[in-house]
Amino acid sequence: MDEDWERALAVVAHPDDVEYGAASAVARWTSQGKSVRYLLVTRGEAGIDGMDPALVGPLREAEQQEAAAMVGVEQVDLLGHPDGQVEYGLGLRRDIAAAIRGFRPEVLVSLNYRLEARSGINMADHRAVGMAVLDAVRDAGNRWVFPGLAEGGLEPWSGVRMALFAASPYPTHAVDVAEHLEAGLSSLRCHRQYLAGLSEELDPEGFLRDEAARAGAQAGMEAAVSFEVVFF
Ligand SMILES: [Zn+2]
Repeated sequence: MDEDWERALAVVAHPDDVEYGAASAVARWTSQGKSVRYLLVTRGEAGIDGMDPALVGPLREAEQQEAAAMVGVEQVDLLGHPDGQVEYGLGLRRDIAAAIRGFRPEVLVSLNYRLEARSGINMADHRAVGMAVLDAVRDAGNRWVFPGLAEGGLEPWSGVRMALFAASPYPTHAVDVAEHLEAGLSSLRCHRQYLAGLSEELDPEGFLRDEAARAGAQAGMEAAVSFEVVFF
């Protein structure tokens, strides 16, 4: 993985999406002095079956802020699209393009954008956000797409060089996280309410460790996070 860059923006649908894998790589990058920000499309308010979304939204937002701080991310912004009902479209592309222009990252990080997941079919919110991330890279660079952004002071930014998609069924690159997996696990643990609401058969930490070992074995490392990389 090319690590010759300074700023990355992670754009995902839900609180905990970054923590299921990519957070260990984020911990590595911030330890190198890079600046990483998170942009959450929803507050994840539909994520806990037994709890009112009006209560869950602010709670998961707070957990996400804590999880981000654990891996050296100082800024988390939330767009407030409805959880479980994220629509791919111009509104989402404009919101992501605005964030890209504001932060001017060289790298974007997101989750699998494809219809197929590693097992079964990928979740609709993840597909919508992943596709919008790909398209927003172009939108961010073109003054005449969403002209209101430049009028509001967000000048075009064409400096995004690549988008990294975690949990892709077709990974192309790997990041060595042997020394950062523990930070990634601490970050996941911050999602206390969400994890408490999961069924007892699920073992998120075991899943993360297994995935890191599996991706590591593929890449000839002890522990890794794999990404499908799209270059621009
Ligand atoms: Zn998600």
